[in-house]
Amino acid sequence: MPVRPAQAAAWASMLLAVTGGGWAPAQVVAAPAVPRGPNTVRQRIVLGHSAAGRAIVARRLGDPDSPRRLLVVGSIHGDETAGIAVARRLFHRAAPADLDVWIVPTLDPDGMAVGRRQNSRGVDLNRNFPFRWQRLADPGAVQYSGERALSEPESRIAWRLINRIHPRVTVWFHQSLGVVDLSGGHAALERRYARLVGLPIRRLPRYPGSATGWQNHAFPNSTAFVVELPPGPLSGRRAGRFAAAALTLMAETGPTGPVGPPPAYERKPSAS
Ligand SMILES: [Zn+2]
Repeated sequence: MPVRPAQAAAWASMLLAVTGGGWAPAQVVAAPAVPRGPNTVRQRIVLGHSAAGRAIVARRLGDPDSPRRLLVVGSIHGDETAGIAVARRLFHRAAPADLDVWIVPTLDPDGMAVGRRQNSRGVDLNRNFPFRWQRLADPGAVQYSGERALSEPESRIAWRLINRIHPRVTVWFHQSLGVVDLSGGHAALERRYARLVGLPIRRLPRYPGSATGWQNHAFPNSTAFVVELPPGPLSGRRAGRFAAAALTLMAETGPTGPVGPPPAYERKPSAS
């Protein structure tokens, strides 16, 4: 079943709004026939372009009318790319009838093209988000924050998308510590994901200007967390497990399950 023209047009205009105009028009392209339910879609959407002009693409599957949105970002650091296989696996699963699933295989295509952590302007994109942003390091240094929050087109693309779709759960893949990070969202969800994929859970340092820090602060009824994959590429089977676990997490929260962290007054002080 092709994407309905009215729906495709609506999404194209929405994404033009998302990207703020000025960049290339968004495209909505129906993928070849795949299994899907009666009200589900499977789309490829160009969200915008990197600093060096490469397309940053989202894949979307499931029910576009569902308020239960999952966002998976396969890679934000160009030299940590194993999560792209998870993104691919997720997109090739049967479209879930009750979820709106957004997948961004990579937010840093320029870094990936040369195998480095930063974007083409030398900025660590995961230090460029607008919560507790601080000027860190110098251009090209490992954790260079950029000149200001959201100085980079790649982080602005993610910021606009998240502001528009308000994902209940967001999973950001990194490498290569082999842990799920207690990132400041709903800890039970983060722990559950770690159990589902067979990784230990740890609380890694909270860095200024990180994507998860911003999301968990700006959207208290949602959870965004980091999964540090092990070094090297994932086997197809293992990538499939990480993809399936994200859908399981969404299924287990149900239509009204808690997905945000508890109010601040209920939080226990953390150890590190
Ligand atoms: Zn990383």
